[in-house]
Amino acid sequence: KSLSAATGIKSNDAIKYLFKKGVMATINSSLDSEMAMEIAMEYEIELDVKEKKSAEEVLQKVFADRERTDVRSRPPVVTVLGHVDHGKTSLLDRIRAADVAAHEAGGITQHIGAYRVTIDGSDNEKKTVVFLDTPGHEAFTAMRARGAQMTDMIVLVCAADDGVMPQTVESINHAKAAGVPIIVALNKIDRPEATDDKVQEIYGQLAANGLNPTAWGGETEVVKTSAITGEGVNDLLELLDLQAEVLELTADFGGNAVGTVVEGEMQPGRGAVARILVQEGQIKVGSFAVAGRAFGRVRDMTDDRGSAVREAGPATPLEISGLDELPDAGDRFYVTGTLKQAEDVAKQTRDRERETQLASKTKVTLDNFADTLKAGQVNLLRVVLKADVQGSLDVLRESLEKLGNDEVAVRVIHAAVGGITESDVLLADASEAVVVGFQVASTGPVREIAEARTIDIRTYRVIYDLIDDIKAGLEGMLAPER
Ligand code: GDP
Repeated sequence: KSLSAATGIKSNDAIKYLFKKGVMATINSSLDSEMAMEIAMEYEIELDVKEKKSAEEVLQKVFADRERTDVRSRPPVVTVLGHVDHGKTSLLDRIRAADVAAHEAGGITQHIGAYRVTIDGSDNEKKTVVFLDTPGHEAFTAMRARGAQMTDMIVLVCAADDGVMPQTVESINHAKAAGVPIIVALNKIDRPEATDDKVQEIYGQLAANGLNPTAWGGETEVVKTSAITGEGVNDLLELLDLQAEVLELTADFGGNAVGTVVEGEMQPGRGAVARILVQEGQIKVGSFAVAGRAFGRVRDMTDDRGSAVREAGPATPLEISGLDELPDAGDRFYVTGTLKQAEDVAKQTRDRERETQLASKTKVTLDNFADTLKAGQVNLLRVVLKADVQGSLDVLRESLEKLGNDEVAVRVIHAAVGGITESDVLLADASEAVVVGFQVASTGPVREIAEARTIDIRTYRVIYDLIDDIKAGLEGMLAPER
């Protein structure tokens, strides 16, 4: 609509042009600047495209450019991943119980999406680590799919009586896709089955998955823990603190706060309650704030130890009220100078949400891969690969990765035996990948999630069909979906 208004090209003609290019557009669709210029060229109009920054981008820039006034080291933020029943929740509970600060304050840690643990380190210094409360790679990758990069380190929980299991491998791949360092907690070390031989066997499994333990001369720290006896929990916390020093994690404790929404909840009498983790700057009761579509003035704040606070800085998990709507997990949270600024950003987000619902989808699929390639947006086709047996998986992985040429490569970012799950779809969404299954199916709910996120899922019964389709996808000659 606005291209037509700016150039005098009839909107119908523009739509027809797009249709010929295989792009289904309506008058309300959004165009990228290259496509707009291409249409204008057809009419010998030279288009000078100026990118209009959204209010949120302007705000982001203000935060990115501002002078750091009080930079100090900050605690690491940790997410716990691992196979079901290997002890993620138990370990998180045990870690929570190790928090000396909560005990001193007579408080009990609250479940507000994240919590701090402070221990007396061996050098008599207090060490703090922040844990995100929802373990598992689904939550981790869902946040990442929303663009939130909060986690500095992953604790991969692996049961010493069981070893590396499918979700352990899945977790490793999710962590690698995010580029986050991994520390292994070899949990349930108290179990009689966790013999030295078993431990060595697991070291081998970890090494085979790219996590070579330091005990074997590798790079990966493996700590033996028990969520039941508490063995190794302090060692794990100290190790996390040490790694934080290596990573030189710092934050600016001055200026307006910026953070990430971890959870949101409507509460009777309180309205929208947002649980956030402050990452930089200061937030106070009375601050103006915006997070996604929500804005307002902070009415009250409670920290993870259950105390009402009037002011808080980096690495503090907070529950706040005062926003007019519920933000989403993964939204960036900003304290602004004026209420008007917060309102502008939130209103624009609401408008944009409406527009995206109208506009055509632009996710990478096998069908549009060649176009996105031409547009210079991608040169790597990422694939999440699932198959019924290990043998086929290995063959497929190798064949697919060989398909690349000078211009484009295929990378299998995750390969596993089993049906297509929600976590596969989330990983594909976060990493702009397609999901490909061989002799496996996905369930109705999983297909619904994929549809909602416009993730391409393809399943095949014949290996050659699969390889041919990917090949065709690379070349942009894909046959209609069967
Ligand atoms: P999650 O699914 O990874 O969160 O696992 P849970 O924390 O729910 O633990 C699964 C089961 O293993 C529970 O019955 C726990 O009591 C048990 N468990 C967890 N950690 C340990 C441990 O270190 N030692 C022993 N013996 N059992 C554990």
